[in-house]
Amino acid sequence: MAEKILSKDRLEEFLSRLIEDYQVFAPVEKDGNLLFSRFEESPEEAERVIFGMRPCDARSLTLLDMVFNSDKFQDPYFITRREKTTVISIACTHPQITCFCTSFGITPASEEGSDILLFDLDETYLIRPITQKGQKLIENLKVLLTDAQQSDLRKRDALVKLAISRVKSEVPIEGLKEKLDGMFDSPFWEKVHLKCLGCGICTYLCPTCHCFDIADEAVDSEGKRVRNWDSCMYPKFTLQASGLNPRLSNKERLRQRIMHKFNYSVANYGQAFCVGCGRCVRNCPVNLDIREIIKQISEE
Ligand code: SF4
Ligand code: SF4
Repeated sequence: MAEKILSKDRLEEFLSRLIEDYQVFAPVEKDGNLLFSRFEESPEEAERVIFGMRPCDARSLTLLDMVFNSDKFQDPYFITRREKTTVISIACTHPQITCFCTSFGITPASEEGSDILLFDLDETYLIRPITQKGQKLIENLKVLLTDAQQSDLRKRDALVKLAISRVKSEVPIEGLKEKLDGMFDSPFWEKVHLKCLGCGICTYLCPTCHCFDIADEAVDSEGKRVRNWDSCMYPKFTLQASGLNPRLSNKERLRQRIMHKFNYSVANYGQAFCVGCGRCVRNCPVNLDIREIIKQISEE
């Protein structure tokens, strides 16, 4: 299916129509923060649409696929949710100064992980269906859309070019895995962790982090086995029932975070588990900047 145009005047109608058939999650402003939330009540059992993801986050879903839906291991809960989710991303026009997606071969208009990609052309959105799932969704809403013209495509191309030129931050990824191969016992980790508070913000904000814990919980007379979102930056993450903790301090935990993203993941999946979204850079309370850590490692 070719690109379509949605007038911004009709965005509300577009979303309202989606809500009839899907649970729609979109960025909603709460206390000054934009959080992905259920847009409005929609059928609980319905398939999901995530509206307004950025291409770097959509790409991170393809990394999570490698972990939770591989030949070796299949996570039925993850797979079911993934299959029932349609991702509508929107290309970035104004990357932040902390963005470094291009270091990982991603651009502000990358398509990987998205079912549909939108481009903000001021008065309109240009809609590019990418997968069959995306095509089906657009087909059902075509009464709201018009065909894109050559002038729209030219505007889109110029926008993408400008957005790519606005990603100013870059990190040296080449050879990083090999460098880290020999650094497990390096004195480098003695220094780099010193200002880390172990708050876990960097991992909870990261679209590729996926550590979890499994617990048995008793509720009234019922027992439940539940999976909890967890963080490798917390001491209890590796605390064993015997009392032994193989990651005793922030040194071992920060090393694990860096090794997991840039060494173990490359060994296991052929990919670094970072998409350069820059969230951990923007939100670390002590400005521990992962870009600086990567640069320092490359200079070791
Ligand atoms: S956000 Fe910063 S201080 Fe908190 S755990 Fe991550 S690196 Fe450490
Ligand atoms: S920049 Fe930070 S938050 Fe974003 S993907 Fe990389 S490690 Fe995760």
